Amino acid sequence: MDLKNYIASIENYPKEGIVFRDISPLMADGEAYRAATQAIVEYAKEKEVDMVVGPEARGFIVGCPVAYEMSIGFAPVRKPGKLPRETIEVSYEKEYGMDTLTIHKDAIKPGQRVLITDDLLATGGTIAATIKLVEELGGIVVGCAFLIELTDLHGRDNIKDYDIKVLMEY
Ligand code: 5GP
Repeated sequence: MDLKNYIASIENYPKEGIVFRDISPLMADGEAYRAATQAIVEYAKEKEVDMVVGPEARGFIVGCPVAYEMSIGFAPVRKPGKLPRETIEVSYEKEYGMDTLTIHKDAIKPGQRVLITDDLLATGGTIAATIKLVEELGGIVVGCAFLIELTDLHGRDNIKDYDIKVLMEY
C-alpha cells in the first residue's frame, strides 16, 4: 500500500509559501491507518519499547494505536496548563519565538525504553524538546517514529544521536 496516496498536500497553508501535509485522509481510512500503525509497531518491537510518548496533538494519533497494539502505556506531552498534576517543562526555539512543552513528572519510570511518535518531522524542534523531557525523567529514548519527514528542513540533524523511523519522505 502506498501511504502517500492518503496524504493531502495543501498549498499556502497555514501561510503563503508553505505546503501543509495533511494526515487526516490516512486516519480516515481504516486500512491505511492500520498499515501505518503496524509498520511502527514492528519498529517498536525491534527496539523493545515499553512506553510510547507523543506531543500533542498528532503525536497522540500516531502513538496511541501503537501503544494499544503492544499493550504498553502512552504518555502525552502537552502545551503548558493542560496537564493537571505536577509537570516538568522545556522551552525551545521555533521559527518565530519560543514554545514550551510539558510532561507529568511521573509519566516515565527511570530506565523505561521509550518510543517517541509524531506525525511529521520538520525542523526537529518539537521532537528534540520531547526527547529532553523524557530523558530528564530518566527514560531511555530508543527510537523516534514519524509518518512523514520533510527532508529539506534537515530535522534529523537536531536528533543525530537517536534512531529514526520514517514512513514517507517529502
Ligand atoms: P518541527 O518541530 O519538527 O519543526 O515541526 C514538527 C511539528 O509541527 C509536528 O508536531 C507537526 O505536527 C507540525 N507540523 C509542521 N508542519 C506540518 C505539516 O506540514 N503537516 C503536519 N501534519 N504537521 C506539521
